[in-house]
Amino acid sequence: MRLSKAFIPTLKEVPSDAVIPSHILMVRSGMVRMLSAGIYSFLPLGYKVIKKISDIIREEMDAIGGQEFHLPALNPKEIWEATNRVEAFGDTMFHVKNREYVLAPTHEEIMTYHAKGVLKSYKDLPQIWYQIQTKFRNEPRPRSGVIRGRQFLMKDAYSFDASLEGLDESYELHDKAYRKIFDRCGLDYFVVGASSGAMGGSKSEEFMVKSEAGEDTVAYCSSCGFAANVEVAPSKIERISRQNESKEIYEISTPNVKSIDELCEFLKINERETAKSRVYIHNGQPVLILMSGNDEVNETKLGSILGGEVRPGHQEELKEITGADAGSIGPIGFKHRIIADLRLKDGNNLFSGANKNDYHIGGIDLQRDVPNLEYADLRIVESGENCSNCSNTIEVFKAIELGHIFKLGTKYSEGLGAMFLDENSKENPIIMGSYGIGVERVLACFIEQNNDENGIIWKKPLSPFDVHLIGLNMKKEIVVEACESIFNELSENKFDVIFDDRTNVQAGFKFSDADLLGMPIQIIVGERRLKENQVELKIRATGERINVGINELSSKIKELLK
Ligand code: ATP
Ligand code: MG
Repeated sequence: MRLSKAFIPTLKEVPSDAVIPSHILMVRSGMVRMLSAGIYSFLPLGYKVIKKISDIIREEMDAIGGQEFHLPALNPKEIWEATNRVEAFGDTMFHVKNREYVLAPTHEEIMTYHAKGVLKSYKDLPQIWYQIQTKFRNEPRPRSGVIRGRQFLMKDAYSFDASLEGLDESYELHDKAYRKIFDRCGLDYFVVGASSGAMGGSKSEEFMVKSEAGEDTVAYCSSCGFAANVEVAPSKIERISRQNESKEIYEISTPNVKSIDELCEFLKINERETAKSRVYIHNGQPVLILMSGNDEVNETKLGSILGGEVRPGHQEELKEITGADAGSIGPIGFKHRIIADLRLKDGNNLFSGANKNDYHIGGIDLQRDVPNLEYADLRIVESGENCSNCSNTIEVFKAIELGHIFKLGTKYSEGLGAMFLDENSKENPIIMGSYGIGVERVLACFIEQNNDENGIIWKKPLSPFDVHLIGLNMKKEIVVEACESIFNELSENKFDVIFDDRTNVQAGFKFSDADLLGMPIQIIVGERRLKENQVELKIRATGERINVGINELSSKIKELLK
């Protein structure tokens, strides 16, 4: 491809709406252009990479027996009503104006519709069906470029099985295929598992990459690979130590002291000597949650421990229940259920609120002074604490979901009546799995992980071209001739070359475009070296420069691209 003829509109400036590197670089390198919020056009360079990713996905899906479909994005609404998902998706689903159609945000319903009445017997199962196709979701906050689009490409796959064991196998096949796909794309990813162990299977795993642009917060241990969403990540932090002697309880006047930090400052004590109180309303009844120091209550953990309806108490409720405002509440004299975080287990000589404004209580011994106290893991885990799996340290960071594999069970087959006859001629709903990959996210996440201040740093196999050939002064015949012959030779040797043959562009612009576009190898052809029958190679990833004889060019490039 000759740059003089290519439509690769690079930009020097950073687009005003772009914050994260992948978004900035995809626009600056002329891979995409925004049409409207969350809606992007892929230009030829960007689409070239999308096709490479799609090819890798196809190869690995075909390798596990997947059969490729192409379903319509425009769907009759009634099919989605059969599974109650018009309601479930709510505003996220795009409705077509005449109200009989919707734009599909995923395709469980339509795949199940095609399975119904056709996969009739256990002998027709298992099946793996997939597609690489456009999805529509009216995301409330489209951002980070193509990472959260309102229209995006998804590889979605669905498995159909006759038994739970069959579903396990289909799920494992996808798990392996996904690892191969992301490995081949050169991504640094990790897997977050979530298993509720329920019958009919609801195991799921998310394939994620670390990124400031992520909307999930995860706890990750690089030493054992344990990863979990912070909402559920267990805490194994050391408990506060119980002192040999418990003091007597005593009341202290603490005017205007509300926060834990203010209390520590006022009494010249350590955060770990304090117990913070939060009041929640559980099914209409107050519950006091006691945390060590500034530790935050993990409301997801609390919700799953309590079950039912849980919400933080309002200001007026707190006053009515405890007699005090937030900041002065504590366990002593609190007449309802109290649950303390495990970190506080059997702690003594603690300071907490007195249930009386502007007063605190010291010398609290949880064993002695708080009868019927319950304990549970209620903390939000933090970077630097011990991994619950291997005791090395965990890191907490933001992450983006690349893909998701999920044991669906029979929700959709039951909803749409997709039944099969088992070996005993008994009718059962088909057991399903669903497996998604965000194709644009693979591309954007690769760039997030492979860039520097000058641009993208491509690696095979996603790199749009292998080599960026730069003719320095394309007005000089010797340079033109050499470039043409190198371009021909490399193309004959099956290297994909982008050739900067522009005559009206300064060398400096050519260099910065080459770094921005980021092909793995640059060949710089200038008059001076040509006189010694040499050209200069620049390795984009390292910046290393090597002089190479023209005769050895093909073999050198082959070696470098390995
Ligand atoms: P997220 O939590 O990021 O919204 P999701 O749980 O809604 O993702 P799924 O419904 O499991 O995602 O879709 C499968 C895959 O499709 C995701 O793993 C992700 O890679 C991709 N994806 C989902 N929503 C978008 C979007 N708005 N833009 C681009 N890709 C998306
Ligand atoms: Mg979503």
